[in-house]
Amino acid sequence: MTSLDLPCILKDQPLSNYSTYEIGGKARFLALPRSDNEVLEVLEAAMSHGMNPLFFGMGSNLLFPDTPNPENLYISTRSHREIYLQNDRLHVSAGMPMSLLALIGAVIGTSDFDFSFLLPGTLGGGIYMNAKYFSHYVSDFIDTVYYVDLDDIGRNMQSITVEHCEFGYKQSVFQRKNWFIIGADLRFNQAPSHPDALQPFLRELDRAMLESSSLKVFSAFYMDYLDRLKQEHDPSAIPMRSIIADRTGKMHFNYPSCGSVFKNNYAIGEPIGKLADRLHLRGREYGKAMISPVHGNVIQNRGGARAEDVIYLIHLVQEEINKHFGFVPEAELVIVS
Ligand SMILES: Cc1cc2nc3c(=O)[nH]c(=O)nc-3n(C[C@H](O)[C@H](O)[C@H](O)COP(=O)(O)OP(=O)(O)OC[C@H]3O[C@@H](n4cnc5c(N)ncnc54)[C@H](O)[C@@H]3O)c2cc1C
Repeated sequence: MTSLDLPCILKDQPLSNYSTYEIGGKARFLALPRSDNEVLEVLEAAMSHGMNPLFFGMGSNLLFPDTPNPENLYISTRSHREIYLQNDRLHVSAGMPMSLLALIGAVIGTSDFDFSFLLPGTLGGGIYMNAKYFSHYVSDFIDTVYYVDLDDIGRNMQSITVEHCEFGYKQSVFQRKNWFIIGADLRFNQAPSHPDALQPFLRELDRAMLESSSLKVFSAFYMDYLDRLKQEHDPSAIPMRSIIADRTGKMHFNYPSCGSVFKNNYAIGEPIGKLADRLHLRGREYGKAMISPVHGNVIQNRGGARAEDVIYLIHLVQEEINKHFGFVPEAELVIVS
């Protein structure tokens, strides 16, 4: 039986430290595996102790419960950040922050990942939701995804190629399977012009900041880093300034949140945020949660919000939109037990 005393398994961890919502009670056990092997060990430990493995990345698209289930072993991939070039592919582990991928692209000389600059979350979470920024999707650069099927007794690593991942708008096959994504091979549309710059960049990286779920820490870290890169590289190679302007203009990092709460329903013709605006829902509060005063599809934690405050506002938006526009918006945010 694999022990729960593994060095990467922590006890009594506040889940609020592991989600950009900064909401969530104390987890009895939380694991931060750092390699493929440690992931497999942690899964083995969970299974042999009859615990339910609940896996996530940076916690930027989920809402943790105020009282976590003690039978859950919460597993975050954020400490598992391997990346290397192999032939014409980039192998990246699931915990790699998507925003770091954008910086790495700038350093090695490809603009393929620019769109993921300041996109909170890990590659694993991005694959799960097929994260996007305007017309760019994570699925644009996926070649093969590696995963462990938790419903398969053997639990060996398996792989699936992009054409079988059922990627669509905020959709993927991973949303209907009990598959733990370990990593992926990414392909380039624009081959890197300075592949040798990867390892020196990784050696210099300040890794401590990469694991924080604070949106303020996250945004300050990446904006500072971009400034440093601008001094060392040709600024024309780093076209990420417009992303900073867009995201700071929408006040993405001012309060803890999980970004957009609902998926857009394109059949309706208007984004959910606009529909919520038409119903004057911006600024509505419940407990310590508030529908963002600048974006009707974002619910903020204004300081000390509980999961139940956010859930109340989610139901309010759903009921109001259903009453006035005749459909219930589908949550993008994952509500965790
Ligand atoms: C300020 C802000 C702005 C945002 N802007 C955008 C945006 O522009 N576009 C966009 O698409 N999203 C956006 N998001 C949402 C979020 O950043 C993305 O959905 C991101 O991909 C989530 O990654 P994560 O690692 O945080 O996933 P988590 O929140 O940790 O997990 C989300 C879901 O993914 C699953 N998951 C995570 N890792 C794995 C894995 N290794 N294997 C299997 N399943 C896994 C979890 O089980 C969970 O169901 C924003 C969020 C914030 C806070």
